[in-house]
Amino acid sequence: MSRPRKVHVKSFGCQMNVYDSHRMADTLAPAGYRETAQPEDADLVILNTCHIREKAVEKVYSEIGRIRALKDQAAAQGRPMMIAVAGCVAQAEGREIIRRAGVVDLVVGSQNYHRLPEMLARAAKGEKVVDTDFPVEDKFAQLPAPQREATRRRGVSSFVTVQEGCDKFCTFCVVPYTRGAEVSRPVAQIVAEVERLAEAGVREVTLIGQNVNAYHGEGEDGVPSSLGKLLRRLARVPSIDRLRYTTSHPCDMDDDLVSAHGELDALMPYVHLPVQSGSDRVLAAMNRKHTRAGYLEAIARLRAARPDLAFSSDFIVGFPGETEQDFRDTLTLVDDVGYASAFSFMYSPRPGTPAAEMDGQVPQQEKAERLQRLQAAITRQQRAFNAGFAGRTLDVLLEKPGKLPGQLVGRSPYLQAVQVMAPASLTGEIARVTVTEIGSNSLFGALSDETDAPQLAAAGA
Ligand code: SAM
Ligand code: SF4
Repeated sequence: MSRPRKVHVKSFGCQMNVYDSHRMADTLAPAGYRETAQPEDADLVILNTCHIREKAVEKVYSEIGRIRALKDQAAAQGRPMMIAVAGCVAQAEGREIIRRAGVVDLVVGSQNYHRLPEMLARAAKGEKVVDTDFPVEDKFAQLPAPQREATRRRGVSSFVTVQEGCDKFCTFCVVPYTRGAEVSRPVAQIVAEVERLAEAGVREVTLIGQNVNAYHGEGEDGVPSSLGKLLRRLARVPSIDRLRYTTSHPCDMDDDLVSAHGELDALMPYVHLPVQSGSDRVLAAMNRKHTRAGYLEAIARLRAARPDLAFSSDFIVGFPGETEQDFRDTLTLVDDVGYASAFSFMYSPRPGTPAAEMDGQVPQQEKAERLQRLQAAITRQQRAFNAGFAGRTLDVLLEKPGKLPGQLVGRSPYLQAVQVMAPASLTGEIARVTVTEIGSNSLFGALSDETDAPQLAAAGA
């Protein structure tokens, strides 16, 4: 009998790539491919790439160089290995990848990976296959359902893409070019996928999209649904105890979504709402379509609906034309909001985007200095936010083994990592945990008495 074939998918960049990587593996399962964490054992290595920041393309070529060595070793053992490049760099570079790296067998764009089995069959016959069209058919409708065993291995928290692409065209961003126009999946398709994940043990689902709150997929009644409505529907799926969504745009924070935060126990009190800058001048140059006041108003509406809501954000420093005063406006916005955490980046000119051609590019050293100041402010806020949990008892979804033997790690409702001594049988349970210590990246806690009795008994511990 021939040995089962193995696929190794290496994911770079955002959560949508993690989701796509899982779905690529699911697509290949009916063709006999099993996932492996070891690229050297694989018959097929897929690099699922990201194009969002600098040197993305060069990083992909150096990664291809590393996989090439494994392919040579495999060939020496008489075992052919194929290399595929997928994701946003594949979408942007297309056939150029095969021209520069002849060792690559196929290049598949972000909207085409449902065709992987057919592309692999062609590549196996020696063809160099490139497929980066934006197809008319819906990739999601073509994909096989998530595989039960693979889902179990991937854990109790899962991403589900509900919306893809972007029509906003922020002047710094490649997403509208690499992921294409905004498209939402129908509600019924999403519900079926979430039910399937729930059956395989998933307890928490994070709905993802480049602009997730612009979601407008067809509802089960044939009428377009908002994200708020979709969340209300998914809150009724048995065994799905926690819902999250990311990434939102401030302009699409409608009243329906805001009120869902006040109504749904399953909707976790943590929202990632990128602002990019606190200066109206810079926001206009970025084509963000919202002002500082508009952003603060969205935050205030959300807090009014759910007072304990925690926020994170994305920031770009050193956008072309950003002055010291503009940057200080960003620092005061951080003070005004009070974030639980945030990501911050130096502006990186992306070829083909309007901002790359703008006057007033900020010197690298200045960008680095501003980034340091912003990150110091964010770190202070994150520490203060976490310190407020000392001695409190939280619901923690226990996800996997922690750093120490006998420990499990899970997430609080506010997305903090929580390490707790707990039997492995509690994996997948939501336990009551009392916070005993605040670390720099996670909280430490002990199972509270409220957990001990019924849950430990149910888990057979
Ligand atoms: N759609 C989301 C939004 O509107 O905020 C996020 C999309 S992007 C994948 C994630 C983050 O990468 C952005 O929020 C932005 O902060 C950062 N980013 C995108 N393009 C960038 C660039 N050219 N330079 C630096 N950071 C960038
Ligand atoms: Fe990029 Fe702006 Fe669209 Fe976000 S909203 S994906 S930053 S263009």
